Amino acid sequence: MSFPIYLTKYSYLHILMKYSDNAITAKKDAIVMYIDMNSYFASCEQQRHPELRGKAVGVVTYDSPNASVIAASIEAKRMGVKTGMRLPDCKLLCPHIIPVTTHPGWYRQIHVEIMAILKSYCDDVIAKSIDEAVMNFTSYRLVYKDFTVVANQIKADIKKKYDYLTCSIGIAPNSFLAKLGTELQKPDGLIQITPENIDGYLATLKLTDLPGIASRNERRLLLTGVRTPLEMRHSSPALLRKVFGGIVGDYWHNRLNFKEVDLYNNTFNHTMSATRTLSRQQTANPQSIEAMLIALCTRLEQRMVKGEVFCKEVSFWIKYRDSTVWETKVKLANPVQDGLELRRYIKEKMQEFETSHNRVLFSNHVQNIGVGIQNFMSDKVLQYSLFDNRIQQDVVRKVMYNIKDKYGKNSVRKGCELIDPTIMKDAVGFGSVRDMTANDGVVRNKYMLEEEEF
Ligand SMILES: [Mg+2]
Repeated sequence: MSFPIYLTKYSYLHILMKYSDNAITAKKDAIVMYIDMNSYFASCEQQRHPELRGKAVGVVTYDSPNASVIAASIEAKRMGVKTGMRLPDCKLLCPHIIPVTTHPGWYRQIHVEIMAILKSYCDDVIAKSIDEAVMNFTSYRLVYKDFTVVANQIKADIKKKYDYLTCSIGIAPNSFLAKLGTELQKPDGLIQITPENIDGYLATLKLTDLPGIASRNERRLLLTGVRTPLEMRHSSPALLRKVFGGIVGDYWHNRLNFKEVDLYNNTFNHTMSATRTLSRQQTANPQSIEAMLIALCTRLEQRMVKGEVFCKEVSFWIKYRDSTVWETKVKLANPVQDGLELRRYIKEKMQEFETSHNRVLFSNHVQNIGVGIQNFMSDKVLQYSLFDNRIQQDVVRKVMYNIKDKYGKNSVRKGCELIDPTIMKDAVGFGSVRDMTANDGVVRNKYMLEEEEF
């Protein structure tokens, strides 16, 4: 009987060994370096077009006087221009701002070169996004004497290739604190956070200066009496569990106390789904069912953006009032995050079935519909690896949700979320305009406004 027990123990140990780098105990002598390119898209444009250097540049996804700036140059940021602002608002702060449309292929090419530079110093490099990477130098402690020297060498190597690009580098015992180091000095920063100096740095910060703490978490912390990052670091795990609702509180305690939480995360094997029951009145109009499908897909899109993942599988089911079910599953060649794209794959499958069986699926017998997504991948891995042309779409989507987080969910809406077609033209647009309305111009999306009821 001892054999199976041995096996169980072995697999348990095996799992522990595999994920032991996300340490349970503090590793104060671990060395993690975080590299954040400064004003990346705008600097890439200035790199390629010397006439833009030293000037306020706003990178926009399309050429229109009302476009939103998805990245501002260092010079524009100094004048108060922020990501997500529309050009007319930017011009009030910075009259000479020069709008430049994005060139994702160019940004990606530079990203690949920068990654090659980083990999020449250390094998353990993880791209966190197109302009950020984290390097685990822990096993190189004997190889390099001084990691600030290494950081300066990396900066010099990047400069040699691209003389206009700068980066902020943070060094710390875990990836969260290393990233925080990059936030403390911009542009061209270099900050090492150690057990000795951490309290000094935290004392200068507001709660919302911590990456991952936005206004909602700030409010929760303040309600519990935690007023500053320094107080947060010295709060008990139990108190932070109360603030963040469970394990997430432990993560925050760990991040601020030198334990690794974020370096290798492995939480992408679950399923997300959204379902909705329809009234008879709703099912009488096939367009209401269409609108519901868009609403469900948008809901899942929001959750993927929040979770920083894309999915590679989508399933869809329709339950009819006689308890029969129609369902389909699509394995996606390219990972998807966009709600309208999810819908497009579902509709393709439906049309295939409807044509071959001569049957209408969105009939007045529908009782409820549901969309499920599986097989997730981190957006960090994706943004730079696959899509030349989609980087800008992905960036815009992220920016939109960041604005929603900051200013409330009604501050911006996707075109397809709007009821009024005249406003629709003006909206941040991605996906196809065809998806927003039926051929007869009827808007399919009036249920978009009910998203909080899911
Ligand atoms: Mg950056």
